Amino acid sequence: MRPHHGKVALFTGKNKPLALAEYPVAAPLAGQALLKLTCSGICGTDVHIHEGFLGMPEMPLVIGHEFSGTVEQMGSTPMRDGLGTTLAAGDPVIACVAMPCGQCFNCKRGETASCLAFGVTYVKDAGEAPHFHGGLGEYLYSPAANLVRVPDGVDPLAAAAFPCGGPTIIRAFAYGGGLEAGELVVIQGNGALGLFALAWAKRQGATVVVVGSEANPERTALMRALEPDSFLNYRTTPPETVRKTVADLAARLGRGDGADVVIETSGNPQAFPEGLALVRTRGRYLVPGQYSNRGPVAIEPQLVTFKALRIIGAAQYQLADIGTYLDFLRDHADLQPLFRSAIKCYPIEAVNEALADASRGVAIKAAICCHMHT
Ligand SMILES: [Zn+2]
Ligand SMILES: [Zn+2]
Repeated sequence: MRPHHGKVALFTGKNKPLALAEYPVAAPLAGQALLKLTCSGICGTDVHIHEGFLGMPEMPLVIGHEFSGTVEQMGSTPMRDGLGTTLAAGDPVIACVAMPCGQCFNCKRGETASCLAFGVTYVKDAGEAPHFHGGLGEYLYSPAANLVRVPDGVDPLAAAAFPCGGPTIIRAFAYGGGLEAGELVVIQGNGALGLFALAWAKRQGATVVVVGSEANPERTALMRALEPDSFLNYRTTPPETVRKTVADLAARLGRGDGADVVIETSGNPQAFPEGLALVRTRGRYLVPGQYSNRGPVAIEPQLVTFKALRIIGAAQYQLADIGTYLDFLRDHADLQPLFRSAIKCYPIEAVNEALADASRGVAIKAAICCHMHT
């Protein structure tokens, strides 16, 4: 009898269609878990890799780093996830691809999201056993230390909506000194990062203005359901009007001369100079969204000086941020059906369509869904 096999989608080079391949599914090694993947989101990063904006070694790769699944088999027992929770077969988990070194200056300070020698679990030749290194496949082998169990009370498919965007925003706010109830927050962009930032800031008691697009009706509907206090379409609202709206709102709320926090999630370099103009004097500008080099923009550095701005970058996240993300969903159960509605499922055979839809912004969160009913 042919051994049990599973499918993966292989990335073999810039702008080439992903190719399906099948590999045998074997027992995991000690310290590893074999996951049956249920939902693998396609991230902006995957689109950037596919379009050649993020260099990757030349070998067939299983890309994709936003996966959730269930534990199929454990390479050793007992097994704990990266946050210390005991795992059992059948448990729903989210896997994280990041492998901070633990030794560098930043890791030693506990800032593992900013490791100076970051590794990832999935940049490995797919021809090498155990083959299932990344998210765009039916199975995944992951070190147990990279898993976080989805807590009881959280729909794993709701958690699968923003398993990367959510922790990324949580890390940006953590680096930026948190958020207080009553603060005025402006979110630039309403993609995955922006939508999560909206949910997060509203539930911390902030007043939230979103400056985004209405190009995708489903995304607009989800944004409205998350109840921003104000929405401004950046395509139809002149920058001066955006500034005046934010300044007027800040004055009305007694928050000074602008937003307490502006968070850039659009990835559009042009959003940066506009964001600088929206932050109040002594406010924070969080910039977790500029994920590829799309060229320079002109800024007025004197704004940073005269407004005594705090500009805070954040890339990646750390394992504990995934735990915070899942706890947030557990504590705000009403968000779960909304998050779940963000996912548009594609079978793995339609992976190229999913990638194209993610690139064009057709889906809020395009995802490869396998093993949904087994
Ligand atoms: Zn991602
Ligand atoms: Zn490190």
